[in-house]
Amino acid sequence: MKNTTPLVGLLLLCASCSPNEKLAPIGAGGAAPGDAGAVPDASGGGAEGDPFAQLPKIAPTATGRRGAAATVDLRGTLAAIEVLKRGGNAVDAAVAAAGVLGVTDPFSCGIGGGGFMLIYLADGDEVIALDHRETAPSRLEARLYYEGGAPVPFDELVTSGLSVGVPGTVRGWSDALRRYGTLGLGDVLQRAIQVAEAGFDVDETFFEQTGRNLSRFQAITSTKALFLGPDAKPWPVGALFKNPDLAATYRLIAEGGEKAFYEGQVAAAIVAAVKEPPVEPGSALDVRAGVLELSDLRDYETRVRPALSTTYRDYAIYGVGLPSSGGIAVAEALDLLEGYDMAPLTPVEVLHRYLGASRLAFADRGAFLGDPEFVDAPVKGLLSKDYADARRAQIDLAAAPSAAAEPGDPYAFQSDPSPAPGRARKAEGGSAGPKDAGDNETTHITVSDAAGNIVSYTCTIEYEGGNGIVVPGYGFLLNNELTDFTIPPDPSAPHPNVAEPGKRPRSSMSPTIVLKDGKPALALGSPGGSTIITTVLQILVNHIDLGLPIDEALAAPRLSQRNSGDGSTDAETAFLSAPEAEGLASLGHALSDAATLGGEIGAATALRFHGDGTVTAVAEPVRRHGGSAMVEQPR
Ligand code: GLU
Repeated sequence: MKNTTPLVGLLLLCASCSPNEKLAPIGAGGAAPGDAGAVPDASGGGAEGDPFAQLPKIAPTATGRRGAAATVDLRGTLAAIEVLKRGGNAVDAAVAAAGVLGVTDPFSCGIGGGGFMLIYLADGDEVIALDHRETAPSRLEARLYYEGGAPVPFDELVTSGLSVGVPGTVRGWSDALRRYGTLGLGDVLQRAIQVAEAGFDVDETFFEQTGRNLSRFQAITSTKALFLGPDAKPWPVGALFKNPDLAATYRLIAEGGEKAFYEGQVAAAIVAAVKEPPVEPGSALDVRAGVLELSDLRDYETRVRPALSTTYRDYAIYGVGLPSSGGIAVAEALDLLEGYDMAPLTPVEVLHRYLGASRLAFADRGAFLGDPEFVDAPVKGLLSKDYADARRAQIDLAAAPSAAAEPGDPYAFQSDPSPAPGRARKAEGGSAGPKDAGDNETTHITVSDAAGNIVSYTCTIEYEGGNGIVVPGYGFLLNNELTDFTIPPDPSAPHPNVAEPGKRPRSSMSPTIVLKDGKPALALGSPGGSTIITTVLQILVNHIDLGLPIDEALAAPRLSQRNSGDGSTDAETAFLSAPEAEGLASLGHALSDAATLGGEIGAATALRFHGDGTVTAVAEPVRRHGGSAMVEQPR
């Protein structure tokens, strides 16, 4: 997300803050009180009184000392660095960044959604996964996703009350800060409140995202009123966009804590929007109602889970486990790849193995994984090195496959070898849905602090623009996370990821932290649906096996093999003209141009920790119009 404001001055207002100075109170940055309730004005240019009006030059890579941050958006990164500079830790900074992204990147993440925060605590040398995944309401049953015996079409489910999971973000932020942070929610949200009130320039990303969602945004009264201009068209690039409703909602949360979101007026408005979606009178869009209750919101809980881990060569790899399939799939693929000595191989040979490993990991992901509170998934078997040794034989080193892989038998590699009753080993097969190819949804934040703590945080409202419904009067979009449940064509077909009351849909989010010799080496993550897994995997392979510096590893054109039915692999357009494309074609790989499926794969972010105590923060240089990386103390 490139800033369109003229680049003036150096660092933001807190460049001169003393370490423990509190943020300026709202309004002190110049947000005009009269702005509340105002619609965005399209005057263009920087917002007068914008707390970030003095914006530094955006850069996708920065190296230096102390803390570091990388996000998809300059203001998000600035918010994190600002908190670090005044003594907050990485958790405080990550939540501050996420709060701002909820304002400036509202079609990717926000308080209407959920996420997974992976935290490395330097003091204690511990990695923790904070799961604040959205949860199916207590009255949500799989049968609601079928009409006349057939699944409700995916697109129709996206824009509906039926796809809304109980949002986890606010409780996630609150629990993260309470357990591992040093500042309160009321403090770290201040900058986001100021940005929402004072406004920011509409950039290319914001403009394109509203454009792609235009017809459904036009069909929802609250969404049209907030995110479209007076003519019901996208706000143009450079227009000043304000979200006073979201500022007010954040302020309620800042003052009342998580309860202000999960109980009371906000909760009531969420339930009303789900049960009676605010559809424009006369709209042809069929927006189905959902079954969310106030008690679902009141009872929502985060889960603090042990991080999932494996080793890869000299590295210890940490990720999040179920209900995300991301960490498991990345780890399984790495276990498969570890069996190859990559040093003497050509890049084509390395990529061939990467694609083969990813294919097998996706076959297992599709067959076995679901919410661990509902499904006894064979994670131990899948992550056993012996299983990887046996399964590796299914990678043909001489030729690419032309069909989907079958799942393996991980049960034979764990102490309880029996599949859980009623949970069929059923491969999903086929290629991932259209939503999985594009990279227009979700966002990843990576932050570290001077004490060595790291946060790798992927957050989302699922689809680009979530379910398309802004909670009327509160300024944020609801998620459509429940479309991540598997809806088999046959409603009676068992699957570990079918919808059930209170269940969390299987995710692909893969926030990752890597240690070497017990010390932080890397942190990374990506948006992009199921391509998140291949993006994280490919960056690791690029960096660890192909030896690319982390910024090049992240920027390199991507390939994504997710066990497609015909063996084909999604490739970014830039890859098709790379020399490796020809080499892969000669091995029989069919590369599909991802441009036809949404274009870019994975606007990732990463941190690389160096032996001399410096850190390189890396954001995406091109995808999603580029992100922003900064360090607390540039070298
Ligand atoms: N819903 C996706 C998941 O949890 C994330 C959103 C996306 O990037 O598509 O895997």
